[in-house]
Parts: sequence; C-alpha cells; structure tokens
Amino acid sequence: MEFAIDTKGHYDFINITPQVAQAVAASKIANGLVLVFIPGATAAITTMEYESGLIKDITATLEKIAPDNFDYAHHQRWGDHNGGAHIKAALIGPSLTVPLEDHQLQLGAWQQIVLIDFDETPRQRTVIIKISPSE
Ligand code: ZN
Repeated sequence: MEFAIDTKGHYDFINITPQVAQAVAASKIANGLVLVFIPGATAAITTMEYESGLIKDITATLEKIAPDNFDYAHHQRWGDHNGGAHIKAALIGPSLTVPLEDHQLQLGAWQQIVLIDFDETPRQRTVIIKISPSE
C-alpha cells in the first residue's frame, strides 16, 4: 500500500505516524515487520520526537554536515542545486522498519515516524508501506 503527501521541501519535517498506523489497521497482519519507504533521493524517513525544538536542532546539525549553500560536484554534473539535499537524504536513509506486535506499531512513547524532505521545491511524494508477517 502507499499514500501521497504534499511537501514543501527545504527541511520539511512531516509526522507520518498516523498514515502508517492507518495502513497497519487496514492490514490483516497482526505480527511482523512494517517497512516504510520513500522513493526519491532527496527525502528521508527516520524516527524522532516530533517537536519544534528538535526540528530546529536536527536542521541545524544537518546544515553543518551538508549545508545547502555549497559548491557540490553534483551541481556541475546536472546543473541543479540540491547536492546538500542528496547528501542529507543518503545519510538518514529512505526507509525504516518498525516491529508490529498484536496490530500495534512498537514505537516508543515519544517516537514518531517522520518524513523529511530536503529538496528545494514543493512536490508530491509517495510513501510505500509493506507489512510482512513474522514471529
Ligand atoms: Zn540533484
């Protein structure tokens, strides 16, 4: 299953826990692994406590590691300007696996599933969810 979501880019943090929980609720599988994946090389999926302070902190930290305003080789290659977005997306990764137990995502009390769009422009993203049964 999948869902579409509109993003603004430029470090757009979106809590997608409700959409993932909805997919889990629609599934007959009670126990297993929930894979959440975003196709796209400039967005990422992770977990965090979804609150405005941490959004600022993670943004500031990633901006130190891979600032948007830098002369990346990728820019010469394609003539675009999102090399920093590609690096941040690669570091965090495009997917997450969450254990499912008795129809419940096994997330911590302050742990949400968060999509981060690092790219330069707003766009519609697709998020793919696959649920596999296991012990
Ligand atoms: Zn690019």
